[in-house]
Amino acid sequence: MRAQPQASHFVDGTYVEDKAGAQIECIYPATGERIALLHSATPDIISRAVASAKRAQVEWERTLPAERGRILRRAAEIMRERNHDLSVLETLDTGKPYQETIVADALSGAEAFEFYGGLASTLSGECIPQGESFIYTKRVALGVCLGIGAWNYPTQIACYKGAAALACGNSVIFKPSEVTPLCALKIAEILAEAGLPKGLYNVVQGYGDVGAALVSHPEIEKVSLTGSVATGSKVMSAAGAGIKHVTMELGGKSPLIIFEDADLDAAVSGAILGNFYSAGQICSNGTRVFVQQSIRGDFERKLLERTRKIRMGDPLDPDTQMGSLISADHMQKVLGHIETGHTDGARLMCGGKQATVPGGERGCYVEATIFSDVTDDMRIAREEIFGPVLSILEFTDEEEVIRRANDTEFGLAAGVFTRDLTRAHRVIDRLQAGTCWINTYNAMPVEMPFGGFKQSGVGKENSRAALDHYSQIKSVYVEMGGVESPY
Ligand code: NAD
Repeated sequence: MRAQPQASHFVDGTYVEDKAGAQIECIYPATGERIALLHSATPDIISRAVASAKRAQVEWERTLPAERGRILRRAAEIMRERNHDLSVLETLDTGKPYQETIVADALSGAEAFEFYGGLASTLSGECIPQGESFIYTKRVALGVCLGIGAWNYPTQIACYKGAAALACGNSVIFKPSEVTPLCALKIAEILAEAGLPKGLYNVVQGYGDVGAALVSHPEIEKVSLTGSVATGSKVMSAAGAGIKHVTMELGGKSPLIIFEDADLDAAVSGAILGNFYSAGQICSNGTRVFVQQSIRGDFERKLLERTRKIRMGDPLDPDTQMGSLISADHMQKVLGHIETGHTDGARLMCGGKQATVPGGERGCYVEATIFSDVTDDMRIAREEIFGPVLSILEFTDEEEVIRRANDTEFGLAAGVFTRDLTRAHRVIDRLQAGTCWINTYNAMPVEMPFGGFKQSGVGKENSRAALDHYSQIKSVYVEMGGVESPY
């Protein structure tokens, strides 16, 4: 098996195994080949991980923030040096093309370690005068933070959650998605190599039950989940029962609005990036593409021409632009959504079927699919598909498109293409979405707060804003005079 790790879990600075745990088969979805076999964590592994994280955190919080930052930045350097190997592993874990992973995954993880490494020593409080007395505040760590990952960006999610938590003086237990267990183990190795003391970044594998056991563990102070709304609801309830901090990065059905004065080629690029990158498996994708009536014909022609040129193939071939979906089960779900597009009366412009790729006959490929004449009530316009399926909806005026764009329980992201800057800001201002773009789509530097409104989530990841979600404020009143008591 070509990607078998030393062992399933990384606990207290070392690889550990417990074969009593349920098997986790790791499949390369582009070929169906089994590339690794791991085991889900047993209660013993969970206890060991929590105990080591708890022990290590006390010392880490007392480590000078500048030293914490240095270790994170060293990890970033190692990640950059190993970008090729990490990208190949990300491709094997997910089926995303190497052409993407070499620029998007380990590198964005490295950026997070650099960014939070730099911020670690800026964490500070304030001094609030009270006459001669005063109050001071300190930003302190939360304790043991649990990260639970989705399968679409296994390296990036493991780094985003780890970097912010560690910078603030917390320890981390990360549970990757059972579908993509490999990449986070490499992050744990790299952090250890960079000098991170043992116990501060643990990787515990498992299915939902392991996630649930960790969420309810009394020693866990914070849970950050990247996943679906359904899982978010369960995890948030369980965390609520223990009064724990939460960050929820959940699903979306985001609008991308293209006005008639837009730069049409740029808008087509935005729609392609926001629907077909990572074979459409990106939470913030602009899957409801609202196009103003007068330009719809031109937009569709250009979009179709460019979509037909997307090179689908072996994800490890550097020329491949679109790889496979994550798994056979997920592919069936996506094909099921496409079926509802037909049943509900949308017009298929291209794609719509499972694709066959030479050498990947057992792979999970779905063609880049465009539906037009989509209406707001169709299931493809309401449900998150998480695959390469773009829906075009026509609109006539601004007021109408704002109302329709907001008519969803989700609120993760939104985009607007127009040359009228006043309109761009006016429309964005009224869209109920946490992360928005004007004249681009899905640009996500680590400096930009990311996170959804409505059912798409709670809290923010990335940027300075994430520091608020991985630390808490301690207030101290210092009395400089006497204390008077009426009793
Ligand atoms: P999922 O909800 O099925 O699983 C996410 C994680 O939760 C997995 O690690 C899983 O094992 C774990 N889990 C499942 N049940 C649990 C429970 N009861 N308690 C604790 N943990 C549990 O999601 P997925 O299929 O892995 O990922 C796709 C979803 O993730 C999509 O909805 C997508 O939009 C969303 N997503 C959101 C973002 C974001 O940043 N907003 C990013 C990527 C993916």
